[in-house]
Amino acid sequence: MSRKKEDTTLASESKPVIQSDAYASMLSRFHAAAEKIGLAPEEIEILSRPAEIHIAYLPVAMDDGQVRVFEAYRVIHSRALGPGKGGIRYAPEVNMREVMALAAWMTWKCAVVNIPYGGAKGGITCEPKKMSVGELERLTRAYTRAMSEVFGPDKDIPAPDMGTSAREMAWIVDEYSRLNKGNFIPAVVTGKPLELGGSKGRVEATGRGVTTVILQALQRLGRRPEGLTAAVQGFGNVGSITAKYLSQSGIRVIAISDKSGGFYNENGILIHQAIQYRDTHGGSLEGFKGGDRITNEQLLTLETDILVPAAIEDQITPQNAPHIKAWLIAEGANGPTTAEADPILNEKGITVIPDILANAGGVIVSYYEWVQNRRGHYYTESEVQERADNTIKQAFDDVFARAAAHRVSLREAAYLLAVERVVKALRMHGKY
Ligand code: GLU
Repeated sequence: MSRKKEDTTLASESKPVIQSDAYASMLSRFHAAAEKIGLAPEEIEILSRPAEIHIAYLPVAMDDGQVRVFEAYRVIHSRALGPGKGGIRYAPEVNMREVMALAAWMTWKCAVVNIPYGGAKGGITCEPKKMSVGELERLTRAYTRAMSEVFGPDKDIPAPDMGTSAREMAWIVDEYSRLNKGNFIPAVVTGKPLELGGSKGRVEATGRGVTTVILQALQRLGRRPEGLTAAVQGFGNVGSITAKYLSQSGIRVIAISDKSGGFYNENGILIHQAIQYRDTHGGSLEGFKGGDRITNEQLLTLETDILVPAAIEDQITPQNAPHIKAWLIAEGANGPTTAEADPILNEKGITVIPDILANAGGVIVSYYEWVQNRRGHYYTESEVQERADNTIKQAFDDVFARAAAHRVSLREAAYLLAVERVVKALRMHGKY
């Protein structure tokens, strides 16, 4: 391959400047894998940046009669392995670099579990808990109209993420179908309600997958789940369902938390009670009586066997990593560990099941939902669960074997596998 000399600087130019944010953490892990695999500079350049960034400013009529303008994004990181795939986040902290990181993580996640998708992510900077259902519906429809040329069952397929759920997906499929002359196009989005073409098992899928990889890791490490303890940070869809499945497998969940802080109970938190409390108290654990109050920071450094960060990015940092006592971490959230904390965890001998593997259960079942929509044939819950369990177990085994063979961490092994698969496809697309 002949290349002009100045082209060889591309790779180093796209290396991150030292700054701790999610995108920098994503890039530093990608670059480490790219270097090991020996990617060409232009391949590094392509995958260091999103393929497309779409920004829209959405005017929405609020209930008080005022019009507010919301900033909204959809980032496609890569379509090398298939259409863009990834959730839509509604949160006040949403910003473009965060969405860029989340989109890239979707590329690596889909590749590591071998499903035929690229990576994408959407986000709207808003406070969904302070908005009425009507305002949220108008916002979601405005977003769908703005992104109507971006989305498509063979192009880019959104799904729920933080702050969104099946309800928002229903509005998207409705608005998108209206824009397409009324043709019902359920495969444009996944995580839909069952009545509108959703899949059985989708709501539980991420938490179930997190638990499956934890049990698989325990087996590999020669440990039985009974009698072990776990602390779970975050009590949204992923954290609460992981906590539920963990306690069903005989693991004592001694701490949980959400934005309002944490709760500790050495005898084990009653997870069904916590879920019921949250669901009857505006989605928050504030005031829950099932444990002593602790902070989110205390939760991360508790004396426990297993730690599941299932809240947001950048929670495990070089500051708190030295104090972590768990020996197994399963990343339910996307990007909960900063890249600078990785070597500290490795040195301490902590096994980290990385986000792009640990939380892939959701997008795996999203894939089955999309397949079911296109076939017009629907699986039973146990069919979905069996397929999803097998897929994530296989991915875990692939990553575990790679890590053992190359004497690297599970995260490095997962990135090596994912980047190799994406680059192989990228090369097949050819040059243009
Ligand atoms: N938002 C989820 C994730 O981060 C699910 C994405 C999907 O199903 O497309 O993996």
